[in-house]
Amino acid sequence: MKVIIIGSGLSGLTAGAYLISEGYDVIIYEQNDLIGGVTATIRKDGFSWDLGPLLLDGFAPYESAAKTMKELDIYDHVEFIRDDRGQSFPDFDIWKPEKYEGPLWRKSFFTRLFPEEKEGLNDYYKLYDKMMNILALGDKLDWAKGLKTFFLKIKLYLKLLTIFKKLKWSAQELMDYYFSNDKLKAVFTGILADFVVKPSEFPGLGVPTVNVESAFDIRIPLDIKEGKLPTYHYIKGGCQNLVDAFADKILSQGGKIETNKLVKKIIVENNIIKGVQLEDGEIISSDLVIASGGIQKVFYDQVGKDKLPQSLIEQIEKIVYMGSVLMVHIGIDFDPSSFQKKPLCYYYRTYDIETSIEECREGIYHEGKEGFLIYIPSFHTPEMAPEGKHAITIYTIAPYRLKDRNWDKRREELAEKLLIEAEKIIPNLRKGIETKIIMTPYDFEKRINVLRHSFGGTAPTMSQNNPSHRTPINGLWYIGAYSESGGGVAGVINGTRKAIKQLLENFQ
Ligand SMILES: Cc1cc2nc3c(=O)[nH]c(=O)nc-3n(C[C@H](O)[C@H](O)[C@H](O)COP(=O)(O)OP(=O)(O)OC[C@H]3O[C@@H](n4cnc5c(N)ncnc54)[C@H](O)[C@@H]3O)c2cc1C
Repeated sequence: MKVIIIGSGLSGLTAGAYLISEGYDVIIYEQNDLIGGVTATIRKDGFSWDLGPLLLDGFAPYESAAKTMKELDIYDHVEFIRDDRGQSFPDFDIWKPEKYEGPLWRKSFFTRLFPEEKEGLNDYYKLYDKMMNILALGDKLDWAKGLKTFFLKIKLYLKLLTIFKKLKWSAQELMDYYFSNDKLKAVFTGILADFVVKPSEFPGLGVPTVNVESAFDIRIPLDIKEGKLPTYHYIKGGCQNLVDAFADKILSQGGKIETNKLVKKIIVENNIIKGVQLEDGEIISSDLVIASGGIQKVFYDQVGKDKLPQSLIEQIEKIVYMGSVLMVHIGIDFDPSSFQKKPLCYYYRTYDIETSIEECREGIYHEGKEGFLIYIPSFHTPEMAPEGKHAITIYTIAPYRLKDRNWDKRREELAEKLLIEAEKIIPNLRKGIETKIIMTPYDFEKRINVLRHSFGGTAPTMSQNNPSHRTPINGLWYIGAYSESGGGVAGVINGTRKAIKQLLENFQ
């Protein structure tokens, strides 16, 4: 069977790698001249930076994205570097202590900072423990077969019963239940700013899962009762190496990946897929089309609203998207390690995450003043910069549409303002700049061909309901950050694996 895949991001490549192994005739069309979508690594003047993702979950040998790569026989084609990161707030910084102080050193650290919260912290960490075990069980369930699935489901159900009351709580409600100090609440909800989701919209029980202690100290033992804790890795040499591992698998087995080929239309007749039409008018027929990319582009522009059931249109209209990002990649001529000791640190400059997100949604950009992160990939891969120099990425969430003028008019000014904020962490940063690449929301939009750039796809809010992998059109499947799998590198890899298994079962 001939299958056309739209997009060479990690979702499209995962789909291609599975289907080529199953003997399908695979062709991937990518509108950009480079493959990899937001997981590409960009290069200039001897420096390299990752266009999007940084520290990735899911790649320890027992975790789902790694298992998927093992199933495809490509796990050992990539070098993963396990690491932890720092967090900085206006009044305190959270870096792992030099000498290991046990798995709950952060809890002790917060208790010293906020003694009045001792009881709340004890209770929160009990919930954290339960949630880590639930996550581990869920992960096992994803890979279980036969009777084992049944027993795992029962075990998971019984565990969920113990936290049943909190299932419908938002992150804000959960924080208010455990803590009274807004600064401590922000420690646990700060990461939601990265998803551009308000604490009042995010599921409360998701809070421990986005604050896994092993993200802050790799010395914490990973073994827990029901499995192991999640881990976080960089890709040695940049995320492009991850992309290339999947792409090589497809190409080595006779699949094709064609760049600079924009799919303009998905051809549907009598609710059955017939193929696609490229931008230059060429029509290519196929039995299956697997589309990644933005929802509106795929369903409204490529398929056409007239071919969709009203229920899907209504579902699409209700989707809430993440915000976008402003990214400044710089190459500098000095070593910044005395100012930031590890590759990654999140600098939060406000405790009021709820208002920050509300303003971002209204187009009010904080100009770097409410927070940003600094990522120095050349710390883990020195080859990403010329000798003695460093590659740095500074980025922050930003509205797709600015209330005051637009990104094209303000690109240099706002990039400079972000660098000025970063200079408060790394003094004289701007003096040391040898080269620079600015990525505004408009640049991202063009780079990956979406209608309105949102950096991780749809927002992980409690009410979100993304389109499912299997669409109402026969032979059309939808994958990637905007589909039911949601965003994130591991998320799209795992989600696509599930979609392809479902597709194959369907044919069998
Ligand atoms: C700045 C940033 C930071 C991130 N940080 C992290 C992180 O730290 N950890 C993490 O897990 N995730 C992170 N993510 C999210 C994660 O990278 C994405 O959710 C995931 O990689 C998306 O993969 P995808 O295949 O769905 O989409 P994409 O990577 O966007 O790929 C889609 C591809 O389809 C192509 N395409 C679209 N339309 C067409 C068409 N009509 N014809 C041909 N080709 C087309 C595009 O050009 C693109 O190459 C980050 C994302 C960004 C942008």
